[in-house]
Amino acid sequence: MKTIGLIGGMSWESSLEYYRLLNQFTKNKLGEPHSAEIIMYSVDFARFEKMQHKGKWDEIAVEMIDIARKLKDAGAELLLICTNTMHKLAPAIEKEVDIQLIHIADTTGEAILSQGLNTVGLLGTNFTMTEDFYKERLKKKYNIDVIIPEAADREIIHDIIYTELISGIIKKNSLNRFQDIIKILKERGAEGVILGCTEIPLLVKEEDSSLPIFNTMEIHAKKAIEQALSD
Ligand code: GLU
Repeated sequence: MKTIGLIGGMSWESSLEYYRLLNQFTKNKLGEPHSAEIIMYSVDFARFEKMQHKGKWDEIAVEMIDIARKLKDAGAELLLICTNTMHKLAPAIEKEVDIQLIHIADTTGEAILSQGLNTVGLLGTNFTMTEDFYKERLKKKYNIDVIIPEAADREIIHDIIYTELISGIIKKNSLNRFQDIIKILKERGAEGVILGCTEIPLLVKEEDSSLPIFNTMEIHAKKAIEQALSD
């Protein structure tokens, strides 16, 4: 079994779930009492969130590269960045650190194609929804068309993520807003919806959504275990 390195803490609410899923999937594959070989580096998200919102991506990149290196030196053979947003820096990490990085958009793209879909909605932070690192990757590598919410709805989603979900605050009212936004994406032609932020699945479950959901955290964790258990 390969050792999986996790860059976590963004937020720890979702990293907790990553840790649980990675172990659960290992147990499902290998039986009791198997569990995953994991090394996690968990950051203080307050610092990172500040840098994100100030646009200091170069500074974040330096730190993420350093963390990836530490994980590799500690014995990690696979690397997971436990957040969609921070995949903005995946190319920078891949350039500097020689470790197999499992890209969350790739695992999501494969899952979408396996369901025979090619037009999906994307919910995530404003960075993930509006910048190219995610949508363009899905389009270029998998020919998947991505529909994002209108600006006002993007603000609502971004706000709920950063003021509630990363702190583990789950509100019925916020779920209703997500449900309304998913309905609009459906009307605009989406056949499924990517929960493209690792905290959204803490709020929105399959049964809450009028569209099939793609839970990026679960898909990512499942792929990591497949890789960790392959030769
Ligand atoms: N966990 C979130 C994501 O998947 C948001 C937190 C962050 O900005 O990293 O995008």
